[in-house]
Order: sequence, then C-alpha cells, then structure tokens
Amino acid sequence: MKSLLITIDGPSGAGKSTVSRGLAERLGYTYVDTGALYRAVAFVAHSKGCSADDDNGLADICKHLELRFEKSSKGRRLYANGEDITERVRTSEITMLASAVSARSVVRENLLNVQRGMGKGGGLVFEGRDMGTVVFPEADVKFYLNAHLDTRVLRRYKELVETDAATSLPGVRKAMMKRDEDDSSRALAPLKPAHDAVRIDSTFLGIEQVVEAMFHHIRGQAK
Ligand code: C5P
Repeated sequence: MKSLLITIDGPSGAGKSTVSRGLAERLGYTYVDTGALYRAVAFVAHSKGCSADDDNGLADICKHLELRFEKSSKGRRLYANGEDITERVRTSEITMLASAVSARSVVRENLLNVQRGMGKGGGLVFEGRDMGTVVFPEADVKFYLNAHLDTRVLRRYKELVETDAATSLPGVRKAMMKRDEDDSSRALAPLKPAHDAVRIDSTFLGIEQVVEAMFHHIRGQAK
C-alpha cells in the first residue's frame, strides 16, 4: 500500500494509542504518539519549576528542547535532549500538566513544527487531539475514535492501577472529565472531529476489531 499519512484523534481512554500502534504495525508504518511530545514539554517544565502559564519560560524550554522517538528492544522510547523520559511522562501529575501546557500557543506553535517535520514522507500514523484538524488537514485518511465515558474511565483505571495501587475509580473519572473538558473547550486546536474524519465508537469493540475496521477503510481508499 502506498505511503499514506493517517491521523487518529479522540479523547483520552478511547484506545487511540493501542489502536494506532496496531494499525501502524499492520500497515508497516511508523506510529507517532503526539501526546508524548506535550508530556515531554510538561515534564521539562516541571523539572525546571516553570509553571503552565509562564509563556516566556515555556518558550525557552521549547527553544532548547530536542525531541525524538527511538525504537529499542523495550519498544518505542521518547528522548528529550538525549535523556530517555518514556516512563517518567506517564504520571498523573505530568498528565494534567501536559493538558495545561498544551493550551499555550507558544507550546502548540513549537510542536506544530516538530510534528510536521516528523510527518514528511508518509507511511505514518499520527495519534493526538488535533492531527486531522490542525496539524495535517491534508492527511490521506482521518479517524476520530471515541468511547462512552464509563468505558474510557475503566480502561484508564486498569492501566494506572498496575503501577499505582492507590489509584481510585472516582479519582480517574474526575481527572478524565476535567481533561476532556479542558482539551475540548480550549481556544487553540480544541479536541473535535475533523469534518472529513471517519468516526468510530470503540465502547463495544475490541482493539483488533477497531484496527480491522480502520484497515478495511484505508484499503478501500487506497484503491
Ligand atoms: O494523548 P495523551 O493523553 O498522552 O495527551 C496528553 C495531553 O496532551 C492531552 O490531554 C492534550 O491536552 C495534549 N495533546 C494535545 N494535542 C495533541 C496531543 C495531545 O493538545 N495532538
């Protein structure tokens, strides 16, 4: 299949990461998790004591930040200025901070360039919130993956409780609702389906079924 650029957007817990990874594998494409880039900015801001509304501080961080993904025996790793921060960007604190810094134009503009740089050449599956609407409006195929809130909360809870036994279901629900609301209502690149995106609801579908549905759609488009 020719080298297409595919975007997958949607709220947290809809299964985007697992589906994107699976689809990329099936197509022999490269998968790019753009949420990890926002998490990296949040991680560096946190370690430097820079708050989410300090635009000058964030601009300075972005200016000196070199981000790259690298394949390894432990899967895809995220490096910020040469340091492997893959696991460290997954804490609840960095998750909420990533959402806060992602609303700042200075951060979005910088990461827009980083993402478009990574998007050259095709053969890529980009996952995020604004891939089909802002970053790659000309993408070959766009998907918007959603699921019922209860399902998304449960999926995220199962994921988090593996590393933090103190995780609570009401706590995950509250944080997810706040993040959904913040990501969808922000002025810049809010989370929403592109007008030409194929919408998929994964509430009652397994990962394999979603990947299969996407694969069939792409094959139909590529003919
Ligand atoms: O996808 P993930 O949960 O890792 O994303 C973390 C945060 O980064 C999201 O809550 C969102 O605020 C932000 N983000 C974004 N645009 C993207 C990807 C992520 O604003 N394309």
